Amino acid sequence: MSTPPGHPEKKLVTLIPGDGVGPECVRAAQRIIEATGAPVAWEEHQAGASVFRQGIASGVPRETIESIRETRVVLKGPLETPVGFGEKSANVTLRKLFETYGNVRPVRELPGVPTPYSGRGIDLVVVRENVEDLYAGIEHMQTPGVAQCLKLISSKGCEKVVRLAFEFALAEGRKRIHCATKSNIMKLTEGALKRGFEQVSREYPGIEAHHIIIDNCAHQLVKKPEQFDVIVTTNMNGDIISDLASALVGGLGFAPSANLGNEVAIFEAVHGSAPKYAGKNVINPTAVVLSAAMMLRHLGEFDAAATIEHAILVTFEDGEARTGDVVGYDKGASTTAFTEAVIANLGRKSERHQVRGYKPLKLPKVNPAADFVKAKDRRVVGVDVFVESSLSSEALGKGLERLAAETPVKLKMISNRGTKVYPATGAITDCVDHWRCRFIRRDASADLADATLLDLLQRIAARYRWMHVEKLQEFDGASGFTMAQGED
Ligand code: NAP
Repeated sequence: MSTPPGHPEKKLVTLIPGDGVGPECVRAAQRIIEATGAPVAWEEHQAGASVFRQGIASGVPRETIESIRETRVVLKGPLETPVGFGEKSANVTLRKLFETYGNVRPVRELPGVPTPYSGRGIDLVVVRENVEDLYAGIEHMQTPGVAQCLKLISSKGCEKVVRLAFEFALAEGRKRIHCATKSNIMKLTEGALKRGFEQVSREYPGIEAHHIIIDNCAHQLVKKPEQFDVIVTTNMNGDIISDLASALVGGLGFAPSANLGNEVAIFEAVHGSAPKYAGKNVINPTAVVLSAAMMLRHLGEFDAAATIEHAILVTFEDGEARTGDVVGYDKGASTTAFTEAVIANLGRKSERHQVRGYKPLKLPKVNPAADFVKAKDRRVVGVDVFVESSLSSEALGKGLERLAAETPVKLKMISNRGTKVYPATGAITDCVDHWRCRFIRRDASADLADATLLDLLQRIAARYRWMHVEKLQEFDGASGFTMAQGED
């Protein structure tokens, strides 16, 4: 945490107004914080659309990065992601640059915001892994017609986010955590979060730990959301279910978030730049204001945070300045009128709703060194070679078998988009020109040398167009790869 020059009593925050409705929401939060008298000073910097327009492909200029390195705390508006192929999301870039590995997204019913779920007492937090998974952003066109996105999940990343979820539960006095994954299908990637959860949960015996499959989690969230307290999940799942959950309590206008890492914390609404409302002074700034309250807690300003939350609650309960997303845009209060009402209500307390008693969050201890998970025994047992070909599976299979005839490996099977097609299974598969050709060792105890794999690859390259190779490995006797659908 840093202080501005000449003001040792103030805490310096990097402020990024953002795109679309961002500046309107961020200004509202800034005004409300200033009205509480909380000792916060701002250092304003840009990111997003205006920066992309300057030709900076990351959307985040050096001055903004330097400011964040200094202040370690950011309040930001949403940033638009250009739809072209070149630019990455500046939001994801900021999260990844500063290793904010956990995205905490509280979802709480507000008494003055009627929804079909009103009265059910929804009060849950989604803790989303924030830097790995499909959002590692590693994509390739493997053939002119087939794209691939790598879903990268590390055991270190899983442990960090799971520990964060448990520590967050302790800080908020929460009693139950669901780990939501698709580990039944993606046993190695989604399964890594489940395994990390099962291990770490043993260290927190006071908190109930359950695993739930993500699709059922979505179903249960709509059917009986009040059963959830904390949900920890992978990046993509978390992105989707937190939007879903926000709709249960009134929509994205009410969904704040904190991107937490061990060095930097970035506070922002879950919502995006909502361009259709930009500049119209109609947007509900509550999500950014509640994100700012989370930021105040992070800065140790617990009273100011509670004062703001109460003022928001009272403003909606009074019903005089409800925004258009709640009462319809033809009769909703303007963003500035709502902001002024919240400021006028600072110091009032909601009678129908409690603000939680919070304790400081203890961030998990993380070894800053790269994680080297060592296996006592590791073996290369085969290789998947991905080939682009317009041949039939039968012709390709026979050709590859001949190529490997004299080598230490044999063709085990070929799959097309994950389904085994060679040797034929009788399945009806609509094939594309992208084949995964699996070769395995002939000697069941061999550890295949790179020279064997490179020789095979050269033989294949002489006749076919290959585009990707993946070693098949075993670690301490456990298979490090999954079977194709239909593979025995
Ligand atoms: P969006 O900006 O979140 O807007 C989707 C819809 O959510 C809006 O049309 C509106 O619904 C509702 N909404 C959003 N903010 C609201 C608020 N403050 N109050 C009330 N309702 C609100 O999503 P998008 O249109 O998919 O994305 C627009 C841009 O934002 C994209 O460039 C995207 O990449 C970017 N984005 C940025 C972030 C971020 O900065 N963290 C997050 C998500 C998206 P109704 O139409 O029903 O009124």
